[in-house]
Amino acid sequence: YDDRDGFIWFDGALRPWREANVHILTHAMHYASAVFEGQRCYNGTVFALEQHSQRLIESARLLGFEIPWSLEQINAATNEVIAANGFTDCYVRPIAWRGSEQMGVAAQRTKPHLAIACWHWGAYFGDEVLAKGLRLDIASWRRPAPYTAPTRSKAAGLYMICTLSKHAAADKGYDDALMLDWRGQVAEATGANLFFVKDGALHTPTPDCFLDGITRRTVIGLAKARGIEVIERAIWPEEMSSFEAAFLTGSAAEVTQIAEIGPWRFTVGGMGKQLAADYAALVRGQSRNS
Ligand code: PMP
Repeated sequence: YDDRDGFIWFDGALRPWREANVHILTHAMHYASAVFEGQRCYNGTVFALEQHSQRLIESARLLGFEIPWSLEQINAATNEVIAANGFTDCYVRPIAWRGSEQMGVAAQRTKPHLAIACWHWGAYFGDEVLAKGLRLDIASWRRPAPYTAPTRSKAAGLYMICTLSKHAAADKGYDDALMLDWRGQVAEATGANLFFVKDGALHTPTPDCFLDGITRRTVIGLAKARGIEVIERAIWPEEMSSFEAAFLTGSAAEVTQIAEIGPWRFTVGGMGKQLAADYAALVRGQSRNS
């Protein structure tokens, strides 16, 4: 991703893509003192920009550092970098991290940085998989307890187990992995939240040790607007056989249907497809000022 034309917003200025670099002794690289966001721009408007920028600020605070830019400045910088690259539809990746002023676990003297990149990113799982529905492995790595790591932070360090799980799934021919939490309850996929359909209602795990995704909350709102009951609760893997359908939600993944989880099979279509269409209409239909 480092060798292309375009611009990346970096600590207050637009830098040519190939020059948006950091030093090898950056604290974040050694000790995972980095937090990031992921959002999509549709028809020139970033969906839920405020919420993403706010979560970025909160994620950094949970790791003990303050981003030296205000919410308004981060929003403006996001729009600026999208415009500078000439995009109307793209994925946006803000990242904040501790710099290279100090080595060792302690990082009080490091300078916080912020960069925002954007690029074209089609269907997260690819168009072919999207049509058939995803096949998920059950990961052997588990989401940590909230007393083990700051699980409400979109912290780079927490993605180590996601990459491990995703690679293990891919090695077995799966598209992604379902991760259980430390109790053995169903948690989420490696970069998206999970929903299940049963008897006309939606069931989704309570987000008490993983991200309460912005897409997740949006889809809950869309379901309720359709009069669909949404039940947030602890879900155990043994229950998989009782669910008729399943899908996942995320800013990159949007609403993606699931065809298989381990030994269990699901119907692709119905309520999940309807909510995917509702989500697509919502993110594309909004006005610039909404
Ligand atoms: N869980 C994980 C691990 C994720 O990476 C994401 C994507 N940010 C989500 C859930 C969904 O969050 P959102 O809908 O806010 O993108």
